[in-house]
Amino acid sequence: MKTLERSHVIDEGRLFSEIDAAGQSPAEKALDIIDKARELRGLTTAEVAVLLKTDTPEVRETLYAAAIKVKAAIYGQRMVLFAPLYVTNECCNDCLYCAFRSSNKELIRKRLTMEEIAEEVRLLERMGHKRLLLVYGEGADDSIEYMLKTIETVYATRTGMGEIRRVNVNCAPRTAGDFRLLHEAGIGTFQIFQETYHRETYARMHPSGPKSDYDWRITAPDRAFEGGVDDLGIGPLFGLFDWRFEVMATVAHAQYLEDKLGVGPHTISMPRLEPALNAPVAEHPPHMVSDDDFRRIVCIFRLAVPYTGMILSTRESAEFRDELFRLGISQISAGSKTSPGAYKDATREHIMEQFTLGDHRTPDEIIHELCQAGHMPSFCTACYRQGRTGHDFMGLAKIGFIQDFCTPNAILTFKEYLLDYASPATRALGEKVLSEHVSRVLNTKVRRHLEKSLQEMEEGGRDIYM
Ligand code: SAM
Ligand code: SF4
Repeated sequence: MKTLERSHVIDEGRLFSEIDAAGQSPAEKALDIIDKARELRGLTTAEVAVLLKTDTPEVRETLYAAAIKVKAAIYGQRMVLFAPLYVTNECCNDCLYCAFRSSNKELIRKRLTMEEIAEEVRLLERMGHKRLLLVYGEGADDSIEYMLKTIETVYATRTGMGEIRRVNVNCAPRTAGDFRLLHEAGIGTFQIFQETYHRETYARMHPSGPKSDYDWRITAPDRAFEGGVDDLGIGPLFGLFDWRFEVMATVAHAQYLEDKLGVGPHTISMPRLEPALNAPVAEHPPHMVSDDDFRRIVCIFRLAVPYTGMILSTRESAEFRDELFRLGISQISAGSKTSPGAYKDATREHIMEQFTLGDHRTPDEIIHELCQAGHMPSFCTACYRQGRTGHDFMGLAKIGFIQDFCTPNAILTFKEYLLDYASPATRALGEKVLSEHVSRVLNTKVRRHLEKSLQEMEEGGRDIYM
């Protein structure tokens, strides 16, 4: 049953007036706000507006430095890796920016069978992946039974040491009853992007199909929570409308979820529009976000919602990405394909893909590069498997326990990768990075336990976590 009422998640009028009011702020005010954010207590939308509108060299440098500090304090050097698995590119919507739109008659449509899904999963497992994001177009015959079967297939598909330990889902909004079934099937995060929080732009970008209902979409996380899925992923699609408004609205959405559900979003994604076949808006984004603005966006999110994971696609240049990691990103996709079946058959990439990716490197190449920059690649799924999700996860995160669980678990899952999947060059470098991180674990009890577990893994043990 769809919502008939206009939702009040986003108060556009309030956000626009806060942006206007911030236009008159002196630089000192921005510096004070950044100082406050160092205490890891987040920011109000009015404070976010001041940071968005004040861009002197001093404010910018201070903003970067504070974001680096907050990122390091909460996440250390960890970088969680995952891959998307496109299940179907059939879609009855006509989003102006997406190649899967119904009016794109050139795109070859495909909905994977269970055997095809298993084949894709085996290939992803052989790359070392443990976390997948299943992505679905919105088909005319979009049955929950099909979705449940796809999830079951992913969890049941194993190769050698390979297995998928956490399936996240990015799909169209569903009812609370459907979300209950997805929860029972064992999904981790339900992720959904509002694309643009600006109603009028939203209506223009989504001219037909069920997605044209702004309210049904923005209330999807609420229904997912009602159905038992308490790790929620949100985000805008940058390029459709003024990025300042989108940042404000995303923070407002996060605060709405925190106030209403007692837990904010588990992740915020920040895709920028990519070129897509026969998608006019993707070819010429009406509100391009420059690299300079993108850096500020990452920093402002990091300060505004310090405990929320931040996800970035791997399309940016190596140098730029490394900078964004330090400023706040905590999860990235690696080795991604955006067409159903393309891990097996790369020729599907151009004729069936959702958008064009700029980064074609393998996960091993990305991991090697992460190590060179001192990051700790992680495939960890421990919190979700130990039931530390939603409110429990945020509770732990907020009292600082995250370091005692996350760092050792990142190290243990990275060790699995090095033993089972790494190229010789990545293994040599990775072992070095790994021992440095082990030596930095300050709690002696935790360090000893970790060293013992690493030894067990050398002797064949797997899937060891705290
Ligand atoms: N069909 C579902 C929906 O729209 O929510 C889920 C899958 S859709 C493939 C996942 C996301 O891809 C969308 O929410 C949108 O943000 C993103 N997307 C679509 N076209 C894009 C483009 N040209 N560049 C970057 N991201 C895009
Ligand atoms: Fe369909 Fe989602 Fe693409 Fe829109 S963004 S056309 S709903 S797959």
